[in-house]
Amino acid sequence: MPDTVNHFELQSNSSLEQVAEARPPRSRAERSRITPEAIEAIRALSPIEQVIGEHVQLRRSGIELKGCCPFHADKTPSLYISRTKAVFRCHGCGAGGDVFEFIRLLHHCSFCESVEILATRAGIQVNGFRPSPELAAKVAVLKAHYQDELAFEGFRNHRLEAINQQYRSLGRAAAYAENCLRAGEADPYVHDLAWDALKRFIDFEARIEREGLCELDVLKTEWSKLRDVA
Ligand SMILES: [Zn+2]
Repeated sequence: MPDTVNHFELQSNSSLEQVAEARPPRSRAERSRITPEAIEAIRALSPIEQVIGEHVQLRRSGIELKGCCPFHADKTPSLYISRTKAVFRCHGCGAGGDVFEFIRLLHHCSFCESVEILATRAGIQVNGFRPSPELAAKVAVLKAHYQDELAFEGFRNHRLEAINQQYRSLGRAAAYAENCLRAGEADPYVHDLAWDALKRFIDFEARIEREGLCELDVLKTEWSKLRDVA
């Protein structure tokens, strides 16, 4: 029997429930055979937002994701997920931890059982598991891809925030300028400044549209250029 099953098919929630319920009893000795390498491979194959997203409807909140906490009666989303730190935290009931802790709380099981549940989800056989070279290579590629995604997301958030800030600041100046002009500003110097502020706002708005400054494709192209230079 091979040590590993090298496929990455995700199983449905219902089969995860079945896995949780139909776990065979394991001895302490057997459980201790779950190696740190196995745990890290399973972690890499179980991005926290994907695993939690299979149980909780998530939406973005700044650079984090949020949803209603499954561990207490939560009406407003209090569960936050940091993708970069790979942890969750509920501001309502205080539950928090990594992806294994989420599964442990969800299924009321032990840490080892949470490892087994996530291993099954990732299509890995965990008992006595040593990552095969093929699996180790796949895990490395997935990890790198995930890190790259996170880095791009950071870049995009930063860029969109900068554009928003500039837009708001030019917008405030333009609104002030418009009031001045409507009030019949007599000073030619202030008059010119006001027209200039209006023009800068209109130009920036047009540039966002023309150059697609906020569009995903444009940001991705720019990101890959920056990454290649680095
Ligand atoms: Zn909670």
